[in-house]
Amino acid sequence: MLLLDLSVPGRRGYVLPELDVEETPIEELIPEAYLRESDLGLPELTEPEVVRYFTQLSRKNHGVDVGFYPLGSCTMKYNPRVNEDIAAMPGFSRIHPRQPESTVQGALQLMYELDGYLAEISGLAKTSLQPAAGAHGELTGLLIIKAYHEFSGEGRQRREIIIPDSAHGTNPASAQMAGFIAREISSNSRGGVDVEALREMVGPQTAGLMLTNPNTLGLFDENVETIAKIIHDAGGLLYYDGANANAIMGIVRPGDTGFDIVHFNLHKTFSTPHGGGGPGSGPIVVSEALVDFLPDPIVEYTDGKYHLVRPKHSIGPVKAFYGNFAVMVKAYAYIRHLGAAGLKRVSENAVLNANYVMNQLKQDYYLPYDRICMHEFVLSGKRQKELGATTLDIAKRLLDYGVHAPTIYFPLIVDEAIMVEPTETESKATLDAFVEAMREIAQEAKDDPEKLRSAPTRTPVVRLDETKAARNPILTRKALV
Ligand SMILES: *Cc1c(COP(=O)(O)O)cnc(C)c1O
Repeated sequence: MLLLDLSVPGRRGYVLPELDVEETPIEELIPEAYLRESDLGLPELTEPEVVRYFTQLSRKNHGVDVGFYPLGSCTMKYNPRVNEDIAAMPGFSRIHPRQPESTVQGALQLMYELDGYLAEISGLAKTSLQPAAGAHGELTGLLIIKAYHEFSGEGRQRREIIIPDSAHGTNPASAQMAGFIAREISSNSRGGVDVEALREMVGPQTAGLMLTNPNTLGLFDENVETIAKIIHDAGGLLYYDGANANAIMGIVRPGDTGFDIVHFNLHKTFSTPHGGGGPGSGPIVVSEALVDFLPDPIVEYTDGKYHLVRPKHSIGPVKAFYGNFAVMVKAYAYIRHLGAAGLKRVSENAVLNANYVMNQLKQDYYLPYDRICMHEFVLSGKRQKELGATTLDIAKRLLDYGVHAPTIYFPLIVDEAIMVEPTETESKATLDAFVEAMREIAQEAKDDPEKLRSAPTRTPVVRLDETKAARNPILTRKALV
């Protein structure tokens, strides 16, 4: 149903007061050439009709405010509303990037302190808050790796970035975009980097390695220090994909395990909703040796004032002004609210919740890497596939239970992958309800796989052409069905 179809001529959502001044004819206000010849044809409705229409539309979507959302590698946690209120405070929301520094000292202080907190969490030296997303942070970090090698005269020869086969797809894409050759390294039987294969792969052509740790299997690579040594001995740098930092805060610092550059997704770990297409932020933090290459500007504190400064060998700006400021405010409020002890508890609970759910489900679903997981874990639906219901069918059936599907068919190295990330903001009751739903679905796969193949049955739309939906979205009001 379109809004226009509900329209009834003469219905109004407002009543303006009687005109008490002389009316100016429209032709005197707008040149005739610009006047419309026919009516615009806007829908005519009362205010409650409009409110109901849009509220009903919004309820056709599943969101974290509606129910459980265990979408692995995405950290769909609950984001405290108070942080939205803080970001909307006039002192933050009404400032302009072109204001003189002396009039925005508070904003610069917030950025400077957030930079310091992220440096502390990562165990590195200095932050750029400019990148707008995780993948943008990757590109920025890789451009710094490139600048670093060029500066030491090895830019021409160091062309390769090594990336594990379990990595997020943005890693090889970013490497390619930064002008490197992406080389894939395989995983070992424990789900970590194959260290022997790595030894053979490195050489004078190695620019660096990108690692996600815990990786996308939700597993911590115990060989991380050996890996760091191999890369550093070969003259390369280590990049840490910290999009999902939910498992490590206050527990392990990437800088301490040998990484030179880290990016964080503020819109996953630090209180900005993720997935709505809204602004994000993917700050990078670098070691002391790389500070001079950071994007322009960074915030420094000298002579009792905060300043925007261009680092000496900066790769230049990667985004207009200083990045998505409102997202930084939310992250700052979140970090200040929780404090060091609170952030550590976030990670402890994220890991505990994931291990709890994993252990509840490993009887009913194949668990390819049966070891303690971090903030997420990966099951395989291959047993159910043999019974006639694929991972896609399981994901679709979960929608009927009011649960958003986990991430499926990723990471690529697990057959029929089902990647579950419960997050720390869910109660045991919610986790138990999810476990129960997954068990019932496993039973249905045995008894009646057709039930899964024809799911979902309770959602406004059923099976979409997902590729087409992503490639050719219809964003006009015609799509509002
Ligand atoms: C989400 C994610 C990214 C990319 O972040 P975007 O903000 O979507 O660009 C990169 N790596 C990992 C592991 C991720 O989960």
